[in-house]
Amino acid sequence: MATLIHRPEYAGYDFGPEHPFTPSRLGMLLDLLRSLGCQVDPIAPPAATREEILSVHAEDYVAMVEALDRGDATAAEGEPFGLGTPDNPIFPGMDQAARWLVGGTLHGARLLLDGSERRVLQLGGGLHHAQRDRAEGFCLYNDLAVAIQALVDRGLRVAYLDIDLHHGDGVQNLFYNHDQVLTISLHESGHYLYPGTGHIQETGSPRAPGTAVNIPLEPFTGAEDYLEAFEAVVPKALAWFKPQVLVVQAGADAHFSDPLGDLALTTQTFETLFRRILELAETHAEDRLLLTLGGGYEAQVVARVWTILYHTVMDLPLPQDLPAGWAARWEATLGPEVGPHLHDPDPAFPPLSGREARTRRNRDIVARLLDTLASTWF
Ligand SMILES: [Zn+2]
Repeated sequence: MATLIHRPEYAGYDFGPEHPFTPSRLGMLLDLLRSLGCQVDPIAPPAATREEILSVHAEDYVAMVEALDRGDATAAEGEPFGLGTPDNPIFPGMDQAARWLVGGTLHGARLLLDGSERRVLQLGGGLHHAQRDRAEGFCLYNDLAVAIQALVDRGLRVAYLDIDLHHGDGVQNLFYNHDQVLTISLHESGHYLYPGTGHIQETGSPRAPGTAVNIPLEPFTGAEDYLEAFEAVVPKALAWFKPQVLVVQAGADAHFSDPLGDLALTTQTFETLFRRILELAETHAEDRLLLTLGGGYEAQVVARVWTILYHTVMDLPLPQDLPAGWAARWEATLGPEVGPHLHDPDPAFPPLSGREARTRRNRDIVARLLDTLASTWF
């Protein structure tokens, strides 16, 4: 079982109708869960305060988000802070909307801290690109980092695992010098994809050696290679670091159909990953787990992946079929191509060419990563 966190105000984090990070992703998810008969009854925490945002963000950056929110600054003034760009457009209420998301993830951390919960699922958030002093990649405030900061401030060792398609650069950068935070990110290699970082050589600063771990994967990497790399690195990293809590960004954009990148996971791969994450939290992180959502831009996929996440963390059996009414209600967003089942068809796509060379390159990357980390870990 898990405690759920969500509030309707999350829908206010909206960069406009043309932007891929649309809140309708959450609307589709909640509607799908309820149509499947799930009793979705989340806790609705307060927004993060200014002081809580400042635990990881620079004051001049926060002041600029606030000024733009009120209409007291120009787009030109926002630009040095990554605001008003095509990725991070300015919208009224942006400061407050981002604070709701941070408040939710932070509240999840507090439930783990006071011992009242072991497993929390925040149905939102996961804004892993936000940097200390600028907006990046659809992310204004870094809810994950604020939650992690609250956990380390109370003396906990925190492991952060990021399975989003993109490198979790904001969280990594914010804790690169911090020896009580381990960050692990699996992503499509920065040689091909935004944000261009997350290489194996990024292993933490001299003050925190071995506490940043990156598994950059080749484009079109599928389930087998992905899970092999995951198993070769993640359990070892956790066994070495001995965290007391695991924080997970569970983006859905590593799915093969996602328009923003080229990893090739299926819904079945995500189910395997989610089940494995629960086991790892139990065996390596004192059974404390906080999960957020994240990226994911193919409408007919993200709600299905996160429905699988929900059922997995709630210990519920996975439904086979999608409810008939759901796809019809969201047809304008989902398109007409939604299949009848929660999982992808198996096989989901024809074999991808270049498989052997890709597997070789992925194995080589993992071997070099473990070699780099060997001096600190073993
Ligand atoms: Zn992403």
